[in-house]
Amino acid sequence: MMNAIETMYASLGIEKPIYEYGEKILAGLSERFRKIDEIAEYNQMKVVKAMQDSQVSEACLLGTTGYGYNDIGRDTLEAVYAKIFHTEDALVRPQITCGTHALALALMSNVRPGDEILSPVGKPYDTLEEVIGIRPSKGSLAEYGVTYKQVDLLPDGGFDFEGIKNSINEKTHLVTIQRSKGYQTRPTLSVDRIGELIRFIKNIKPDVICMVDNCYGEFVETIEPTDVGADMVVGSLIKNPGGGLAPIGGYIAGKKECVENAAFRLTSPGLGKEVGASLGILKDFYQGLFLAPTVTASALKGAIFAANLYEPLGFGVVPNSTESRHDIIQAITFGKPEGVIAFCQGIQAAAPVDSFVTPEPWDMPGYDAKVIMAAGAFVSGSSIELSADGPIKEPYAVYFQGGLTWQHAKFGILKSLQSVVNSGLVQKEALN
Ligand SMILES: *Cc1c(COP(=O)(O)O)cnc(C)c1O
Repeated sequence: MMNAIETMYASLGIEKPIYEYGEKILAGLSERFRKIDEIAEYNQMKVVKAMQDSQVSEACLLGTTGYGYNDIGRDTLEAVYAKIFHTEDALVRPQITCGTHALALALMSNVRPGDEILSPVGKPYDTLEEVIGIRPSKGSLAEYGVTYKQVDLLPDGGFDFEGIKNSINEKTHLVTIQRSKGYQTRPTLSVDRIGELIRFIKNIKPDVICMVDNCYGEFVETIEPTDVGADMVVGSLIKNPGGGLAPIGGYIAGKKECVENAAFRLTSPGLGKEVGASLGILKDFYQGLFLAPTVTASALKGAIFAANLYEPLGFGVVPNSTESRHDIIQAITFGKPEGVIAFCQGIQAAAPVDSFVTPEPWDMPGYDAKVIMAAGAFVSGSSIELSADGPIKEPYAVYFQGGLTWQHAKFGILKSLQSVVNSGLVQKEALN
């Protein structure tokens, strides 16, 4: 069998020294992988129980058209999400176009002119800068008279409790907490740390709304931010909770009033959750959610494998090879543009779709440097599928995430290393 696998890898362009180096690294990861499988097992049961308790039926997998009144599948799916996140309600819709839209919806519907939003964990995700109006933008919250304050994390990654306390005032209405580091270098927040932060804030101002940007964090741990006091969690269905099957969508789970506000904004005042046809999408939403715990585990294993593969070769990896994980993103710093390009081309060459195309750096709107992206995905732009991107600028780091199966994530990472070796950045002798 071992020989057959090696031969198969060879037929896909993975040379023996690369395969053997990968196996050597993997041999040291069995205990960590076992723990990930345990979390996936717990979360799989959590999802199945929520589906059973909500009495998901075959009829729920069908969809509605037109107004979408009495869409039993849509309403039941929202009940399932509410059970998983232990919240009063949830909004899970294909009409929410992406993660940014879900976050904008949650923010804009839960503040009013004169209110202030506080981010106690530093700068939010890039696209939210325009939603909030940190970067002036048409339709931003700033245009509607909503102000914004930010307290950066301390240099050691800790919360600036003093600064946070001083920033909370009578106008502070909503606190936004980003769980994943996204494309920054700060550590990702564990659910426990989010809980600590929320307790501190609620102690100062009990009625403030605490919202967590949950993107890339779902099912990485056995608890979610709503288990430790968050009033709302928000995320994208083409990341973890869509399990790779959801072709579009976003969710907001939380307090009844918060979700209701979001629904009135998504559709219309007076209509709220009552309209919004699900068309034919519900089976993929349910089945994707069912698969999400194991898909997330696969992506996590891939991230850990990548860190352990590249760290001994002298490249900077964040998180490092042994750190605990709270999201599925892995950063690898190559220090040279060739490394970023070779890595992304390797990931692309491992894809099930568009493996034959060669990604090149290009001038993407909204970025100040050329960016290279590898994504051979079934769902366009899906980052729970094996994907990587990197701006062509200092420190020449690549961000890697996803993998619907662990086996495919492994292949992609081996392929990236093969590509980096082929580019001459790593000598084969270094792999011994
Ligand atoms: C992906 C992501 C978003 C935005 O989601 P899009 O679907 O790309 O609009 C927001 N916050 C974080 C932390 C993310 O990872």
